[in-house]
Amino acid sequence: MTTMRPPRAPLKPLDDALNELLGFATILSDVEWVSTFDADGRVLAQDLVSELQVPPQDNSSMDGYAVRRADVLHANGQPLPVSQRIAAGSVGTELAPLSVARIFTGAPIPPGADAVVMQEEGELTQTDAGDTVRFTGVPEKGQWIRRAGEDVTQGAKVLSKGERLAPASIGLAASIGMHRLSVVRRPKVALFSTGDELVMPGDVEPEAMKPGAIYNSNRFFLRALLRRLGCEVTDLGIVPDRLEATQDALREAATNHDLILTSGGVSVGEEDHIKPAVESLGSLDLWQIAIKPGKPFAYGKVQGAHFIGLPGNPVSSFVTFLLLVRPFLLKLQGGSKFAIQSIAAPAHFTWARADKRREFLRVCRNAAGGLDLFSNQSSGVLTSAVWGDGLVDNPAGQTIQSGDVVRFISFSELMA
Ligand code: AMP
Ligand code: MG
Repeated sequence: MTTMRPPRAPLKPLDDALNELLGFATILSDVEWVSTFDADGRVLAQDLVSELQVPPQDNSSMDGYAVRRADVLHANGQPLPVSQRIAAGSVGTELAPLSVARIFTGAPIPPGADAVVMQEEGELTQTDAGDTVRFTGVPEKGQWIRRAGEDVTQGAKVLSKGERLAPASIGLAASIGMHRLSVVRRPKVALFSTGDELVMPGDVEPEAMKPGAIYNSNRFFLRALLRRLGCEVTDLGIVPDRLEATQDALREAATNHDLILTSGGVSVGEEDHIKPAVESLGSLDLWQIAIKPGKPFAYGKVQGAHFIGLPGNPVSSFVTFLLLVRPFLLKLQGGSKFAIQSIAAPAHFTWARADKRREFLRVCRNAAGGLDLFSNQSSGVLTSAVWGDGLVDNPAGQTIQSGDVVRFISFSELMA
């Protein structure tokens, strides 16, 4: 007996798939205020405009002496009296003629002074009649003075709506007085794994594992990746390889979640129920991408919730999350930067097997500035993603000779 196979639809190029996905991701409209302390990783829902300048006034960037350059020139190596002392947090007075002010880092420059000499370059003499200081050189005008507004000018937009906050940016927000920030609410994501072979670590000890069983690893890294992207995760556990069970899990997941994220069961095997289950409850709008690893990837809608099905193979699941789910979740939160950044780097390896699909190879930067290849590029070998610190984005049909310049994508950028 012969069975007729339906003609295979061409796989979707990654860039097209990403554009379509971003098109499906409508920005969440709810906004919330959070303490600036808790805003790391969140996406700003408003522009931040500064009501003041930073620093607020000219101040010293050294411990030393605030001087009038002309007076130092005039003193010609003779001592000048120290007429005042200005510590950070206090304010001085007009600098008396032919005198200097003892000044400390961060203290405002007193009116009349136009340079700071660092303390190591002044010879201090302390007497009962007062302190004097002698300089051997003459400072440049403006030396060791941080100018008012050199960081932020009044009225400047310091951070834009759509910016994903990072430690430095919450510091900058605090520097203009923001103690709370308006951010887009966290996406609610329901996560489940499919596969009758899956067992949870802790439920069964390694020595008691039945033949055919494996531990569920995807659940762990997917949950961690979602959390890093600011999501609220509902973990629905492991769903058996049956159509009705898959449909039930999808129905439950669609309630009160923005996104349903699954792993496994999204290929064309008889035990793969994700595709028919999604089609029976909603729509499947994207399926199968021309990348390796990661071909079995799906996007659809289930009862108003977004649905993304990731492959079961751990590396495929990991890589497709970084390349596709991450930008999708950033866009949901109103993020504006989700282009995948790659840099040029020399391959210190040979890749002789060109593939029909665009490949993402697990590599590690070496001390010589090149890239080493992990020895096993199988999509099941999660060690490659731990050993590696990024991916080589290798175009379809391309072999690589050692020394060739290739495109490198760093994991740290994709996981921040
Ligand atoms: P599937 O996409 O369901 O055909 O699964 C492909 C491969 O990935 C199979 O070898 C599965 O056993 C494995 N796999 C699926 N889900 C997981 C998971 N959550 N953790 C680890 N391996 C998995
Ligand atoms: Mg499976």
